[in-house]
Amino acid sequence: MAAERERFYECEVKRRRVRATGGYEPFWKVKAIDVALEDNDTEFRCMSCNGPVKLFKRRSEDGPATHIEHKLKSDSEYCSAGLYFLKATDGRLARLSASPVR
Ligand SMILES: [Zn+2]
Repeated sequence: MAAERERFYECEVKRRRVRATGGYEPFWKVKAIDVALEDNDTEFRCMSCNGPVKLFKRRSEDGPATHIEHKLKSDSEYCSAGLYFLKATDGRLARLSASPVR
């Protein structure tokens, strides 16, 4: 049996919007990863803990779908959506990433 992997199909992407007072300001928007790639977004983060993520693109028809995983194991251990967090039985509390992407 294959090792269990984290797979998220949604993430937050960094976008820019016009600021009311002029100029632009960045903001984060939740998007499906497929849509983000079609839109040529380049900056992603975990929507639950704001931690850095790795992008895995689908390489073949029968390969795993395009998805993201936490870059840091420590995020996965304390992110409310993290594989290790969900498996933990010590009653730990979820928290934001120690190295959030801003
Ligand atoms: Zn996370």
